[in-house]
Amino acid sequence: YSAKRDKNRFMVYTQQEDTERRQQLRLAQELPDAIDNNQLRLHFQPMIRMHDSTVIGAEALVRWQHPQKGLLFPDSFIPLAEGAGSIEPLTRWVLDAAIRQGSKWLSSGHKLNVSVNISALILHNPIFPDIVNRLLEQSRFPAERLKLEITESAIISDVVRATDVVTRLHELGVKVSIDDFGTGYTSLAYIRKLPVDEIKIDKSFVLNMNTVSDDAVIVRTLLELARNLDLSVVAEGVEDRETWYMLAGLGCHVAQGYYMSRPIDVEAFDSWLTTSPWAAAR
Ligand code: C2E
Ligand code: MG
Ligand code: MG
Ligand code: MG
Repeated sequence: YSAKRDKNRFMVYTQQEDTERRQQLRLAQELPDAIDNNQLRLHFQPMIRMHDSTVIGAEALVRWQHPQKGLLFPDSFIPLAEGAGSIEPLTRWVLDAAIRQGSKWLSSGHKLNVSVNISALILHNPIFPDIVNRLLEQSRFPAERLKLEITESAIISDVVRATDVVTRLHELGVKVSIDDFGTGYTSLAYIRKLPVDEIKIDKSFVLNMNTVSDDAVIVRTLLELARNLDLSVVAEGVEDRETWYMLAGLGCHVAQGYYMSRPIDVEAFDSWLTTSPWAAAR
């Protein structure tokens, strides 16, 4: 009898797991139509130059306004997109929307750079630089104002090809940033092999650097590494005033985090640009 009960418990467990997997599969299958039916949204989070508190750019962060499930965050569908072959159309949609928005800001007098997250998988596509170039031309957005944040969600399997793609993007004038720096074991290899302009120190090191001394040591070391390699540094996950001042004291270039603003939709961002003390500093 007890063996049977164990068996039942095992079945209950796998049934739950099964339901979850089926839901994920459904979500992955819905994604291509969601892109076509304009269910994706961009939120923007300001990036602030520390030495003069000037807003110099915005990171575009994708959301999925799902008709039944509400607003979904990228961690719940980007991995699915990568697995189900819809990361390319998704990235194209994000790039197009972000570049258009950057172009609108320029026309209204806001000289902002726009950062877009790129799954490393995309770097295997040799025509990706052409796609980016066409989108830039269509919106007449200067390549120098576009920054591609390469995330290590996928391991680059064909390093030679990826290096070629990044090199061509760099030749277009597009800036290249390594996101979540310090967390992936390939990030050091990236900055040796790829023409990188910037690193973004992962928020896991920044969030508690004002109370956890090991975290502060890591951030200081990454800043020194970046300085020696002549790379610009963004600290993400700046949530309070103390962390801002600590980073400023360490010579960090750019800060991003809830202390200045959460990621918000364009309407909210535009009003933030006119009302926030950070934006007023310019
Ligand atoms: P990421 O590029 O490292 O973006 C930073 C994440 O940290 C964002 O989460 C942002 O909302 C959050 N964040 C910003 N400031 C703070 C802070 O002060 N405290 C805390 N606790 N969190 C903060 P989000 O928007 O959920 O995005 C998660 C990840 O999804 C991104 O991490 C990025 O890797 C990926 N992602 C977002 N949009 C895209 C996209 O269009 N394409 C691809 N391939 N990936 C994307
Ligand atoms: Mg990013
Ligand atoms: Mg990051
Ligand atoms: Mg991330």
